[in-house]
Amino acid sequence: MKIGSCISKKGELTSGKLKVATYKRKGLYIPVHILEGKHEGETIFISGGMHGDELNGIELVQRFIHSVNPEEITGRIILLPVMNVSGYLNMQRNVVYDDKDLNRAFPGVGSGVTQNIAKTIYDIVKMCDFGIDCHDSGSESVLLPHVRARTGRNNICDDGCTMDMGSVFGAKVILQRKGLKGMLAVESYKRLKIPVLTVEIGGAFTMRDDFLLEGIRGIKNVLINNGIMKGKILKPKEQHIISDKHRSYYTSKLDGILRMKFDVGDDVHKGDILAEIHDPIHEKKHKLLSKTCGFIFSRRLRGIIDKNKTACTILQTAVCSTHKTAPSVGQETI
Ligand SMILES: [Zn+2]
Repeated sequence: MKIGSCISKKGELTSGKLKVATYKRKGLYIPVHILEGKHEGETIFISGGMHGDELNGIELVQRFIHSVNPEEITGRIILLPVMNVSGYLNMQRNVVYDDKDLNRAFPGVGSGVTQNIAKTIYDIVKMCDFGIDCHDSGSESVLLPHVRARTGRNNICDDGCTMDMGSVFGAKVILQRKGLKGMLAVESYKRLKIPVLTVEIGGAFTMRDDFLLEGIRGIKNVLINNGIMKGKILKPKEQHIISDKHRSYYTSKLDGILRMKFDVGDDVHKGDILAEIHDPIHEKKHKLLSKTCGFIFSRRLRGIIDKNKTACTILQTAVCSTHKTAPSVGQETI
């Protein structure tokens, strides 16, 4: 297999670069690696850096590459750790040349740098049996490691059952959501019937080793389940399938200094003080109280917050014995 200048070799990790677009007659390139096993099998891709400021997605792919011995692999893994290089170099979500979101540009119809990058990546997806696309929360907040699966009417999976892949991945949360037009995961299944699992881990330009280890273990679980790697699937006991409709957002009513009382993953109950915001110029204070029981799904990491910005989000879990605030529909616990 040859992708750009990267030529795969049996039992080896090889590297190169791939031209994804042209800007002002200059070629734009992304790094490519291929892990090829000694035996024939499925071809898959693992990608990161779709959004340039999502460092944990990039780091997860990098750490995964260096945690695997190619001799353990059956088939091939195409690795694209930084799909949006200009965004990464400028620490911004969108592609710099036209300020567009790469994850709304698939399958890459039309002209423009972002469309061309999407089209080149989409051509790689066509060679694969499935893919795993790694993201994080972006520049300001940290997300609990989780996977995203799309479901249609009556909660039936309509994306090649990434719900099942997500369950094998083993994150505490599988977030159900509809997805948007132009997303890699949405368009790959709709047009090619190739499932793509979206992984979300951490954020705020910080690396959490515990989260990244969870991500590597999750990717390996999926590969073991598909016969690409050998090993034992290791999953946590607790796993929740929750619709993003049951995610509540807590926003500040002041510009001020933010003091968070909880970390991501912490359990909270209705009435708990989640955060305090203090405006030292006008001597104003404001507390955010939890309206539900659940756990902290994301939190802002910086200690300063603007009015109307999100301090944290909570996922409401199905069971809350203390306050009995469980929602009636759309959730199950497995
Ligand atoms: Zn992203």
